[in-house]
Amino acid sequence: MTKNNFTLTLIKPYAVEHGYVGHILARINEAGFRISAMKYTQLSREQAEAFYEVHRNEGFFGRLIEFMTKGPLVVALLEKENAVGSYRRLIGATDPDKAEDGTLRKLFGASVELNAVHGSDSDENARREAAFFFSRLEIF
Ligand code: ATP
Ligand code: MG
Repeated sequence: MTKNNFTLTLIKPYAVEHGYVGHILARINEAGFRISAMKYTQLSREQAEAFYEVHRNEGFFGRLIEFMTKGPLVVALLEKENAVGSYRRLIGATDPDKAEDGTLRKLFGASVELNAVHGSDSDENARREAAFFFSRLEIF
């Protein structure tokens, strides 16, 4: 995979629990992303804390870790030209109330905390997050 053609998404436990996985994957495919890796897993507290390390000092960190470890989630690598920016547009703002109509967080999120999906925020973080979840043998 070349430099800026992939991003990592999490379909968060909240969205899995509410039965949104199929709807979200359909929209990802319709938007032209190719799924190059995917798994269904549950994060340990340690893994969630490492993934969201940058937010360790935020007041919401404890709730964020609880929310992300609550149940299984879907992790996928998505391939497309300018994948990070393109996917951030598809998912919309973190807070569903501020997200544009038709975006994944507007359609499937409940609040800024209970949002439906994650998308990498830079090419560097996409690479870091891909390595966090997948080995070379799991990327197609
Ligand atoms: P994500 O990293 O999950 O894709 P994001 O990049 O849009 O979301 P970040 O600023 O990285 O937003 O925040 C990570 C997560 O922390 C958010 O998805 C949300 O669950 C939680 N969060 C962020 N800001 C707040 C807040 N002000 N209050 C409560 N929770 C928050
Ligand atoms: Mg983020």
